[in-house]
Amino acid sequence: MPTTVRAWGAPAEAAPLESMTLERRDVGDHDVRIEIERAGVCHSDLHTVRGEWGDQPYPLVPGHEIVGTVAEVGSAVQKWQVGQRVGVGVFVDSCRECDNCRAGLENYCRKGMTGTYGATDRDGSITQGGYSAQIVVDEGYVLRIPDGLDLDGAAPLLCAGITLYSPLAHWGAGPGKQVAIVGLGGLGHLGVKIAAAMGAEVTVLSQSTRKADDARRFGATDCLATSDEATFTENQGRFDLIVNTVSADLDTVKYLGLLNTNGTLCQVGLPSSPMSVPAGALTGGRKSLAGSMIGGTVECQEMLDFCAEHGVVAEVEMIRAEQIDEAYDRMVASDVRYRFVIDAASL
Ligand code: NAP
Ligand code: ZN
Repeated sequence: MPTTVRAWGAPAEAAPLESMTLERRDVGDHDVRIEIERAGVCHSDLHTVRGEWGDQPYPLVPGHEIVGTVAEVGSAVQKWQVGQRVGVGVFVDSCRECDNCRAGLENYCRKGMTGTYGATDRDGSITQGGYSAQIVVDEGYVLRIPDGLDLDGAAPLLCAGITLYSPLAHWGAGPGKQVAIVGLGGLGHLGVKIAAAMGAEVTVLSQSTRKADDARRFGATDCLATSDEATFTENQGRFDLIVNTVSADLDTVKYLGLLNTNGTLCQVGLPSSPMSVPAGALTGGRKSLAGSMIGGTVECQEMLDFCAEHGVVAEVEMIRAEQIDEAYDRMVASDVRYRFVIDAASL
Protein backbone atom coordinates (compact mmCIF):
# COMPACT_ATOMS: atom_id res chain seq x y z
CA MET A 1 0.00 0.00 0.00
CA PRO A 2 1.50 3.38 -0.98
CA THR A 3 1.65 5.97 1.77
CA THR A 4 -0.20 9.27 1.41
CA VAL A 5 1.95 12.19 2.57
CA ARG A 6 1.50 15.93 2.97
CA ALA A 7 3.14 18.17 0.36
CA TRP A 8 3.09 21.61 -1.27
CA GLY A 9 3.14 21.76 -5.02
CA ALA A 10 2.02 23.52 -8.18
CA PRO A 11 -1.39 22.35 -9.48
CA ALA A 12 -0.66 23.85 -12.93
CA GLU A 13 1.97 25.93 -14.74
CA ALA A 14 2.63 29.28 -13.07
CA ALA A 15 -0.13 28.69 -10.51
CA PRO A 16 0.62 29.52 -6.88
CA LEU A 17 1.77 26.52 -4.88
CA GLU A 18 -0.84 24.94 -2.63
CA SER A 19 -1.21 22.28 -0.01
CA MET A 20 -1.74 18.81 -1.51
CA THR A 21 -1.02 15.18 -0.83
CA LEU A 22 1.00 12.67 -2.82
CA GLU A 23 1.62 8.94 -2.74
CA ARG A 24 4.98 7.46 -1.81
CA ARG A 25 5.64 3.92 -2.96
CA ASP A 26 6.06 1.05 -0.54
CA VAL A 27 9.61 0.57 0.66
CA GLY A 28 11.17 -2.00 -1.69
CA ASP A 29 14.07 -4.28 -0.76
CA HIS A 30 16.63 -1.61 -1.67
CA ASP A 31 14.64 1.46 -0.67
CA VAL A 32 14.93 3.92 2.18
CA ARG A 33 11.99 5.92 3.55
CA ILE A 34 13.07 9.34 4.75
CA GLU A 35 11.09 11.55 7.10
CA ILE A 36 11.87 14.96 5.59
CA GLU A 37 12.77 17.73 8.03
CA ARG A 38 14.05 20.51 5.76
CA ALA A 39 13.85 21.31 2.04
CA GLY A 40 15.90 24.06 0.42
CA VAL A 41 14.34 26.28 -2.24
CA CYS A 42 16.46 26.33 -5.42
CA HIS A 43 16.01 28.79 -8.27
CA SER A 44 15.54 25.70 -10.48
CA ASP A 45 12.30 24.92 -8.58
CA LEU A 46 11.01 28.31 -9.63
CA HIS A 47 12.20 27.97 -13.28
CA THR A 48 10.37 24.63 -13.40
CA VAL A 49 6.98 25.45 -11.89
CA ARG A 50 6.72 28.88 -13.47
CA GLY A 51 7.02 27.33 -16.94
CA GLU A 52 10.46 28.73 -17.77
CA TRP A 53 11.79 25.26 -18.68
CA GLY A 54 8.92 24.09 -20.86
CA ASP A 55 6.04 21.72 -20.21
CA GLN A 56 5.97 19.83 -16.93
CA PRO A 57 3.73 17.13 -15.54
CA TYR A 58 1.26 18.66 -13.06
CA PRO A 59 0.50 18.57 -10.21
CA LEU A 60 4.18 18.91 -9.41
CA VAL A 61 5.93 19.03 -6.04
CA PRO A 62 9.39 20.63 -6.37
CA GLY A 63 12.34 20.40 -3.98
CA HIS A 64 15.74 18.76 -4.46
CA GLU A 65 17.63 19.90 -1.39
CA ILE A 66 16.29 17.37 1.06
CA VAL A 67 17.47 16.47 4.56
CA GLY A 68 15.82 14.30 7.15
CA THR A 69 15.97 11.06 9.08
CA VAL A 70 15.74 7.46 7.94
CA ALA A 71 12.34 6.14 9.01
CA GLU A 72 12.34 2.69 7.39
CA VAL A 73 14.72 0.58 5.31
CA GLY A 74 14.12 -2.28 2.87
CA SER A 75 15.10 -5.86 3.72
CA ALA A 76 18.28 -5.76 1.60
CA VAL A 77 19.52 -2.37 2.80
CA GLN A 78 22.74 -2.59 4.81
CA LYS A 79 24.18 0.88 4.43
CA TRP A 80 21.45 2.82 6.24
CA GLN A 81 19.80 2.53 9.64
CA VAL A 82 16.60 3.97 11.03
CA GLY A 83 17.32 7.26 12.79
CA GLN A 84 20.35 8.20 10.66
CA ARG A 85 20.55 11.77 9.26
CA VAL A 86 20.50 11.64 5.49
CA GLY A 87 20.00 13.78 2.41
CA VAL A 88 18.75 13.52 -1.16
CA GLY A 89 19.79 15.87 -3.93
CA VAL A 90 18.82 16.53 -7.53
CA PHE A 91 18.45 12.93 -8.76
CA VAL A 92 16.96 9.76 -7.31
CA ASP A 93 18.03 7.21 -9.92
CA SER A 94 20.00 6.65 -13.14
CA CYS A 95 20.70 3.71 -15.48
CA ARG A 96 23.33 2.32 -13.05
CA GLU A 97 25.12 0.60 -15.97
CA CYS A 98 26.88 3.18 -18.11
CA ASP A 99 30.51 4.21 -17.56
CA ASN A 100 29.47 7.44 -15.88
CA CYS A 101 27.06 5.72 -13.46
CA ARG A 102 29.70 3.14 -12.61
CA ALA A 103 32.18 5.94 -11.93
CA GLY A 104 29.77 7.65 -9.52
CA LEU A 105 28.97 10.38 -12.08
CA GLU A 106 25.24 9.56 -12.19
CA ASN A 107 24.56 13.25 -12.88
CA TYR A 108 26.03 12.58 -16.32
CA CYS A 109 24.28 9.22 -16.84
CA ARG A 110 24.33 8.39 -20.57
CA LYS A 111 20.64 7.60 -20.46
CA GLY A 112 19.82 10.63 -18.34
CA MET A 113 19.52 10.80 -14.57
CA THR A 114 16.08 10.54 -12.99
CA GLY A 115 15.41 13.97 -11.52
CA THR A 116 14.03 14.19 -7.99
CA TYR A 117 10.86 15.83 -9.32
CA GLY A 118 9.05 15.96 -12.64
CA ALA A 119 10.89 12.93 -14.09
CA THR A 120 9.60 9.50 -15.08
CA ASP A 121 10.61 6.95 -12.47
CA ARG A 122 11.44 3.26 -13.15
CA ASP A 123 7.86 2.24 -12.41
CA GLY A 124 6.49 4.84 -14.83
CA SER A 125 5.26 7.21 -12.13
CA ILE A 126 6.30 10.88 -12.03
CA THR A 127 8.85 11.73 -9.35
CA GLN A 128 7.76 14.25 -6.72
CA GLY A 129 10.25 16.29 -4.72
CA GLY A 130 11.14 17.44 -1.27
CA TYR A 131 8.42 19.95 -0.40
CA SER A 132 6.79 16.94 1.22
CA ALA A 133 6.73 15.05 4.50
CA GLN A 134 8.44 11.87 3.26
CA ILE A 135 10.30 10.46 0.29
CA VAL A 136 11.18 6.87 -0.68
CA VAL A 137 14.50 6.56 -2.51
CA ASP A 138 16.80 3.75 -3.62
CA GLU A 139 19.63 3.36 -1.08
CA GLY A 140 22.31 4.18 -3.68
CA TYR A 141 20.98 7.73 -4.09
CA VAL A 142 20.91 8.63 -0.39
CA LEU A 143 23.71 10.66 1.20
CA ARG A 144 25.01 10.81 4.76
CA ILE A 145 24.72 14.14 6.58
CA PRO A 146 27.80 14.32 8.83
CA ASP A 147 27.06 14.95 12.52
CA GLY A 148 28.81 18.31 12.59
CA LEU A 149 26.48 19.92 10.05
CA ASP A 150 23.53 22.00 11.21
CA LEU A 151 20.43 20.58 9.49
CA ASP A 152 18.94 23.93 8.36
CA GLY A 153 22.17 25.02 6.70
CA ALA A 154 22.97 21.55 5.35
CA ALA A 155 19.87 21.24 3.15
CA PRO A 156 21.10 23.69 0.45
CA LEU A 157 24.36 21.76 0.16
CA LEU A 158 22.47 18.99 -1.66
CA CYS A 159 22.05 21.12 -4.79
CA ALA A 160 23.66 24.54 -4.40
CA GLY A 161 26.66 23.15 -2.49
CA ILE A 162 27.53 20.36 -4.90
CA THR A 163 26.88 22.55 -7.95
CA LEU A 164 29.69 24.85 -6.84
CA TYR A 165 31.95 22.27 -5.20
CA SER A 166 32.21 20.16 -8.34
CA PRO A 167 33.59 22.80 -10.74
CA LEU A 168 35.76 24.35 -8.02
CA ALA A 169 37.33 20.94 -7.36
CA HIS A 170 37.53 20.03 -11.07
CA TRP A 171 39.31 23.23 -12.08
CA GLY A 172 41.60 23.18 -9.06
CA ALA A 173 40.46 26.09 -6.90
CA GLY A 174 43.08 26.27 -4.15
CA PRO A 175 46.06 28.21 -2.84
CA GLY A 176 47.53 30.58 -5.41
CA LYS A 177 44.37 30.53 -7.56
CA GLN A 178 42.25 33.59 -8.26
CA VAL A 179 38.60 32.56 -8.34
CA ALA A 180 35.60 34.77 -9.11
CA ILE A 181 32.00 33.87 -8.33
CA VAL A 182 29.35 35.72 -10.35
CA GLY A 183 26.06 36.27 -8.46
CA LEU A 184 25.82 36.13 -4.67
CA GLY A 185 22.64 34.09 -4.29
CA GLY A 186 22.02 30.54 -3.10
CA LEU A 187 24.64 28.93 -5.32
CA GLY A 188 27.05 31.86 -5.24
CA HIS A 189 27.34 32.31 -1.49
CA LEU A 190 28.17 28.61 -1.05
CA GLY A 191 30.69 28.93 -3.89
CA VAL A 192 32.45 31.71 -1.98
CA LYS A 193 32.55 29.71 1.25
CA ILE A 194 33.75 26.51 -0.45
CA ALA A 195 36.36 28.19 -2.68
CA ALA A 196 37.72 30.07 0.35
CA ALA A 197 37.83 26.81 2.36
CA MET A 198 39.79 25.26 -0.54
CA GLY A 199 42.35 28.04 -0.09
CA ALA A 200 41.67 30.12 -3.20
CA GLU A 201 41.57 33.91 -3.25
CA VAL A 202 37.92 34.68 -3.95
CA THR A 203 36.26 37.69 -5.57
CA VAL A 204 32.51 38.19 -5.84
CA LEU A 205 31.13 39.79 -8.99
CA SER A 206 27.72 41.09 -7.96
CA GLN A 207 25.31 43.54 -9.58
CA SER A 208 26.22 46.10 -6.92
CA THR A 209 28.37 46.29 -3.81
CA ARG A 210 25.39 46.14 -1.45
CA LYS A 211 26.27 42.55 -0.46
CA ALA A 212 30.00 43.33 -0.03
CA ASP A 213 30.05 42.91 3.76
CA ASP A 214 28.39 39.52 3.46
CA ALA A 215 30.77 38.51 0.66
CA ARG A 216 33.73 39.23 2.93
CA ARG A 217 32.11 37.42 5.84
CA PHE A 218 31.75 34.35 3.59
CA GLY A 219 35.47 34.47 2.78
CA ALA A 220 35.84 36.72 -0.28
CA THR A 221 38.65 39.26 -0.33
CA ASP A 222 36.94 41.45 -2.90
CA CYS A 223 33.41 42.28 -4.06
CA LEU A 224 33.13 44.13 -7.36
CA ALA A 225 30.05 45.66 -8.98
CA THR A 226 29.30 44.40 -12.48
CA SER A 227 27.21 47.54 -13.06
CA ASP A 228 30.49 49.50 -12.96
CA GLU A 229 32.38 49.32 -16.28
CA ALA A 230 35.66 49.88 -14.40
CA THR A 231 35.30 46.37 -12.94
CA PHE A 232 35.84 44.98 -16.43
CA THR A 233 38.63 47.33 -17.50
CA GLU A 234 40.62 47.20 -14.24
CA ASN A 235 40.50 43.42 -13.77
CA GLN A 236 41.37 42.23 -17.29
CA GLY A 237 43.28 38.93 -17.23
CA ARG A 238 42.94 38.47 -13.46
CA PHE A 239 41.08 35.22 -12.77
CA ASP A 240 42.07 31.58 -13.24
CA LEU A 241 38.49 30.44 -12.81
CA ILE A 242 35.17 32.27 -12.96
CA VAL A 243 32.00 30.40 -11.98
CA ASN A 244 28.86 32.11 -13.24
CA THR A 245 25.74 31.30 -11.20
CA VAL A 246 23.47 33.90 -12.82
CA SER A 247 20.37 32.79 -14.72
CA ALA A 248 19.97 36.11 -16.56
CA ASP A 249 21.72 36.79 -19.89
CA LEU A 250 25.11 38.36 -19.22
CA ASP A 251 27.64 39.61 -21.76
CA THR A 252 29.84 36.50 -21.72
CA VAL A 253 32.59 38.22 -23.72
CA LYS A 254 33.14 40.78 -20.96
CA TYR A 255 33.60 37.99 -18.40
CA LEU A 256 35.99 36.09 -20.69
CA GLY A 257 38.08 39.27 -20.72
CA LEU A 258 38.56 38.91 -16.96
CA LEU A 259 40.22 35.50 -17.39
CA ASN A 260 43.94 34.92 -17.05
CA THR A 261 45.81 32.92 -19.72
CA ASN A 262 44.48 29.33 -19.68
CA GLY A 263 41.56 30.46 -17.53
CA THR A 264 38.09 28.93 -17.52
CA LEU A 265 34.67 30.53 -17.36
CA CYS A 266 32.35 27.84 -16.04
CA GLN A 267 28.63 28.30 -16.48
CA VAL A 268 26.34 26.81 -13.81
CA GLY A 269 23.51 29.33 -14.00
CA LEU A 270 21.05 28.50 -16.75
CA PRO A 271 19.91 31.51 -18.81
CA SER A 272 17.12 30.77 -21.26
CA SER A 273 18.75 32.32 -24.35
CA PRO A 274 21.78 30.83 -26.15
CA MET A 275 25.16 32.36 -25.32
CA SER A 276 26.96 34.06 -28.19
CA VAL A 277 30.75 34.29 -28.17
CA PRO A 278 33.16 35.22 -30.98
CA ALA A 279 35.94 32.63 -31.27
CA GLY A 280 38.56 35.33 -30.75
CA ALA A 281 37.37 35.83 -27.18
CA LEU A 282 38.65 32.31 -26.46
CA THR A 283 41.69 31.95 -28.72
CA GLY A 284 43.58 34.93 -27.30
CA GLY A 285 44.82 33.52 -23.97
CA ARG A 286 43.78 29.88 -24.68
CA LYS A 287 40.62 30.35 -22.63
CA SER A 288 37.88 27.82 -21.99
CA LEU A 289 34.15 28.32 -21.78
CA ALA A 290 32.73 25.37 -19.85
CA GLY A 291 29.68 24.16 -17.96
CA SER A 292 28.98 21.94 -15.00
CA MET A 293 25.84 20.30 -13.62
CA ILE A 294 25.53 19.34 -9.94
CA GLY A 295 27.76 16.32 -9.11
CA GLY A 296 27.55 12.56 -8.67
CA THR A 297 26.89 10.64 -5.46
CA VAL A 298 30.57 10.06 -4.71
CA GLU A 299 31.50 13.70 -5.08
CA CYS A 300 28.36 14.82 -3.27
CA GLN A 301 29.35 12.77 -0.22
CA GLU A 302 32.90 14.12 -0.50
CA MET A 303 31.44 17.65 -0.56
CA LEU A 304 29.29 17.01 2.55
CA ASP A 305 32.33 15.66 4.42
CA PHE A 306 34.43 18.62 3.23
CA CYS A 307 31.77 21.07 4.44
CA ALA A 308 31.57 19.36 7.84
CA GLU A 309 35.35 19.50 8.16
CA HIS A 310 35.51 23.18 7.21
CA GLY A 311 32.34 24.35 8.95
CA VAL A 312 30.62 25.32 5.70
CA VAL A 313 26.81 25.54 5.69
CA ALA A 314 24.39 27.77 3.86
CA GLU A 315 23.15 30.99 5.38
CA VAL A 316 19.43 30.36 5.47
CA GLU A 317 16.11 32.04 6.00
CA MET A 318 13.66 29.47 7.33
CA ILE A 319 10.16 29.73 5.87
CA ARG A 320 6.82 28.01 6.27
CA ALA A 321 5.25 26.19 3.32
CA GLU A 322 2.69 28.94 2.69
CA GLN A 323 5.52 31.43 2.11
CA ILE A 324 6.99 29.59 -0.89
CA ASP A 325 5.55 31.88 -3.59
CA GLU A 326 6.69 34.96 -1.71
CA ALA A 327 10.14 33.35 -1.44
CA TYR A 328 10.14 32.73 -5.22
CA ASP A 329 9.31 36.40 -5.84
CA ARG A 330 12.11 37.47 -3.56
CA MET A 331 14.55 35.18 -5.41
CA VAL A 332 13.58 36.78 -8.70
CA ALA A 333 14.32 40.17 -7.12
CA SER A 334 17.79 38.94 -5.92
CA ASP A 335 16.47 39.44 -2.39
CA VAL A 336 17.50 36.17 -0.81
CA ARG A 337 19.98 36.05 2.04
CA TYR A 338 21.04 33.47 0.99
CA ARG A 339 18.81 30.40 0.71
CA PHE A 340 15.21 29.86 1.70
CA VAL A 341 14.64 26.58 3.52
CA ILE A 342 11.21 25.12 4.23
CA ASP A 343 10.56 23.67 7.67
CA ALA A 344 8.75 20.43 6.78
CA ALA A 345 6.75 20.68 10.01
CA SER A 346 4.79 23.51 8.32
CA LEU A 347 3.57 21.33 5.45
P1 NAP B 1 19.49 32.74 -6.74
O1 NAP B 1 19.59 32.37 -5.30
O2 NAP B 1 18.27 33.44 -7.21
O3 NAP B 1 20.81 33.58 -7.09
C1 NAP B 1 21.08 34.09 -8.35
C2 NAP B 1 21.91 35.37 -8.20
O4 NAP B 1 22.17 35.85 -9.52
C3 NAP B 1 21.22 36.52 -7.53
O5 NAP B 1 21.29 36.47 -6.13
C4 NAP B 1 21.95 37.72 -8.09
O6 NAP B 1 23.17 37.94 -7.38
C5 NAP B 1 22.30 37.26 -9.49
N1 NAP B 1 21.35 37.84 -10.48
C6 NAP B 1 20.01 37.70 -10.51
N2 NAP B 1 19.47 38.36 -11.53
C7 NAP B 1 20.50 38.94 -12.18
C8 NAP B 1 20.59 39.77 -13.33
N3 NAP B 1 19.51 40.15 -14.02
N4 NAP B 1 21.82 40.16 -13.71
C9 NAP B 1 22.91 39.80 -13.03
N5 NAP B 1 22.88 39.03 -11.94
C10 NAP B 1 21.69 38.60 -11.52
O7 NAP B 1 19.58 31.44 -7.68
P2 NAP B 1 20.36 30.07 -7.44
O8 NAP B 1 19.44 29.09 -6.75
O9 NAP B 1 21.68 30.36 -6.87
O10 NAP B 1 20.46 29.51 -8.93
C11 NAP B 1 21.14 30.24 -9.93
C12 NAP B 1 21.01 29.54 -11.28
O11 NAP B 1 21.68 28.29 -11.26
C13 NAP B 1 19.59 29.21 -11.72
O12 NAP B 1 19.50 29.40 -13.12
C14 NAP B 1 19.45 27.73 -11.41
O13 NAP B 1 18.48 27.08 -12.20
C15 NAP B 1 20.83 27.27 -11.78
N6 NAP B 1 21.25 25.98 -11.19
C16 NAP B 1 22.13 25.26 -11.91
C17 NAP B 1 22.61 24.06 -11.41
C18 NAP B 1 23.61 23.26 -12.18
O14 NAP B 1 23.81 22.08 -11.85
N7 NAP B 1 24.27 23.80 -13.17
C19 NAP B 1 22.17 23.63 -10.16
C20 NAP B 1 21.30 24.42 -9.43
C21 NAP B 1 20.84 25.61 -9.96
P3 NAP B 1 23.73 39.44 -7.07
O15 NAP B 1 22.65 40.10 -6.27
O16 NAP B 1 24.96 39.16 -6.31
O17 NAP B 1 23.99 40.10 -8.38
ZN1 ZN C 1 18.79 23.08 -7.50
